[in-house]
Amino acid sequence: MDYVFKMVVIGDSAVGKSQLLSRFSKNEFSADIRATVGVEFQTKTVRIDDKLVKTQIWDTAGQERYRAVTGAYYRGALGALIVYDVTKHPSFDHIPRWLDELRHRADPNVVIMLVGNKCDLEGLRAVPTEAGKKLAEREGLLFLETSALDATNVEKAFHMVLERIYQRVSRKSL
Ligand code: GDP
Repeated sequence: MDYVFKMVVIGDSAVGKSQLLSRFSKNEFSADIRATVGVEFQTKTVRIDDKLVKTQIWDTAGQERYRAVTGAYYRGALGALIVYDVTKHPSFDHIPRWLDELRHRADPNVVIMLVGNKCDLEGLRAVPTEAGKKLAEREGLLFLETSALDATNVEKAFHMVLERIYQRVSRKSL
């Protein structure tokens, strides 16, 4: 293995964090309600340039409100997806709070992607694409809308973050 990068997935409850993670790491969408509570992580190895990059992605697994593990959760994270649900405006309104927490606790150079999930539910959309884009520009974040359900942009969201981390880390070690 050439590199191991830690990433975290954060955002309000029920925005689709664990489905995004399982879509990316196992390429599946599970209709089951998650039974386990506690921090979980998945790993997946991807190829960037000619290098093998193992990514360890942490999920809050339903502990968003009482994360006693905050320190360990964010420690060493080089990348993050901050997720909201495009059909739930409050989940978008809470993004600055998540961003603030992340910036205080993760690596100062953490690569952040703002993710508007559930874009398959166009008829129920409450947050315009433009609003997500503007927030991302203002805060210097990458931005994509995704659907864990139909797999739109999921792979791409993780890959863009990993590539950005890779560029930073490989430049540093030259
Ligand atoms: P978490 O609490 O943020 O980890 O959210 P989950 O991954 O458990 O998803 C919450 C609910 O939203 C579940 O009922 C999922 O099936 C559903 N969900 C997650 N992603 C999507 C998506 O992209 N589209 C649709 N339509 N539903 C989704």
